[in-house]
Amino acid sequence: MTAAVDAPADTFNSLDPATGKVHSTWPVHTDAQVQAAVVRARAASADWAALGYAGRKERLSAWRGEIARRMPELADVVHAENGKPFPDAVLEITLAVDHIAWAGKNARRVLGPRRIWPGAMAANQAATLEYPPFGVIGVIGPWNYPVFTPMGSLAYALAAGNAVVFKPSEHTPAVGAWLVEAWKKANPDLAEVLQLVTGFGPTGAALCRAGVDKIAFTGSAAPGRKVMAACAEGLVPVLMECGGKDSMIVDDGADLSAAADAALWGAMSNAGQTCIGIERVYVTEGSYDAFVSEITSRAAKLHPGSEEGASYGPITMPSQVGIIQRHIADALAKGGRALTGGTVDGAFVAPTVLVDVPEDSTAVTEETFGPTVTVTRVPDVEEALRRTNATSYGLAGAVFAKSSKKGVEIARRVRSGMTSVNGVITFASVPGLPFGGVGESGFGRIHGDDGLREFTRAKAITRQRFALPVALTSFDRPEKVTGQLVKVVKLLHGRG
Ligand code: NAD
Repeated sequence: MTAAVDAPADTFNSLDPATGKVHSTWPVHTDAQVQAAVVRARAASADWAALGYAGRKERLSAWRGEIARRMPELADVVHAENGKPFPDAVLEITLAVDHIAWAGKNARRVLGPRRIWPGAMAANQAATLEYPPFGVIGVIGPWNYPVFTPMGSLAYALAAGNAVVFKPSEHTPAVGAWLVEAWKKANPDLAEVLQLVTGFGPTGAALCRAGVDKIAFTGSAAPGRKVMAACAEGLVPVLMECGGKDSMIVDDGADLSAAADAALWGAMSNAGQTCIGIERVYVTEGSYDAFVSEITSRAAKLHPGSEEGASYGPITMPSQVGIIQRHIADALAKGGRALTGGTVDGAFVAPTVLVDVPEDSTAVTEETFGPTVTVTRVPDVEEALRRTNATSYGLAGAVFAKSSKKGVEIARRVRSGMTSVNGVITFASVPGLPFGGVGESGFGRIHGDDGLREFTRAKAITRQRFALPVALTSFDRPEKVTGQLVKVVKLLHGRG
């Protein structure tokens, strides 16, 4: 890595968000360079696919081992570029490594050939379903979880048999480069199966147009729309993992200490820069006062910083600080109160618990992506659900209830892709569960069986086992067959 304060036009600097100092300098890859990477990936994809599930599992395992052995080194890079505390970086990498293991282990079960019952009308056919890889996948990543988030696409796309060209966020290129370098070290003979391109939005747009078979995009909705538009030109399918405005619902009788602890972690870990973070809490009448007292006393103990022992780090993107400030100011101007925090010191935002914030405030309607949370009193769970679902987003959320049965009933009614009951963000640690949203939060899934299938095309094969006495799909079909067919259909379906 080289460092330069004034990078020339064809390179860019990644910064340490705590200090604003240059961390490292990276090329801005051109359209032609991106296309060349995809051509190399296409060539490598044949060897990779030919390895089969067992061979790929071995290679993914080598990569996983390389990452696991050098985890502190990677956590240092994450801390330096993203700003999150070292222990949080370790937690993020731990989850990511688990996903590589899961994807490698389960790819054959989920994607391998299977027999399908052909049904009475095609009883002479043997039917098979299998999920071959697309070929080359372009992965466009964000900076907030620069290991865990892209890994949901990288590991699953690779395990399914695709080669990948990865464009990490311009804020965390060193983390992306580290992952790709670790792949090369673990699998030098298959170095071009996973390649890196770096740059800003235009480099991502070039990847959409470079001949890839699918794009897996993680980021905010506005660039997501541009990615879809670029992909539409070539009918390139897309996976969209976008933002959220998740809520926690706290019902009467819930464990308020556990709920407050979870709400704070969900809202403020990673400085609130979590797509599945908790940005709103709706608390029923009977629990509200005690919950507010619990969350404010806990929030008062948190402190942002870059030093060891800090609760969370700086805001990674300098431009985000202004958005967070605007959301807090709008909440206060509309009658809200900050029970803790509300202040900003450079890139560090104090833990901010907001109450009495009207529902039309931007702190309630837009993704804040900072260590802030609104806590709102509601008469009952019905109202909590109504407000929770009154958003164009639909990524995740949490429910705290006295009984887990009631919690699950409430969770089912949250319009989102994932909900945790009596916990927060717990679904993300279960590799077998799909991850993704609805509405403005995107579509498609990473993780789990669905996450593996996302990087494949279903392939249906029928094989004739014996000829039918009368061929239905032939111009030689006798006339009387139509009458017989009418009788058979009536017999099979007519009584319904
Ligand atoms: P962003 O949308 O600004 O950037 C994401 C990536 O898209 C970057 O690599 C960027 O260079 C690239 N990009 C930007 N414009 C592009 C274009 N026109 N064509 C192609 N690529 C382009 O998002 P961000 O600030 O890096 O990440 C934060 C957002 O991501 C938040 O909204 C967060 O909620 C969301 N997020 C979602 C998930 C999820 O799984 N649903 C996970 C993490 C983050």
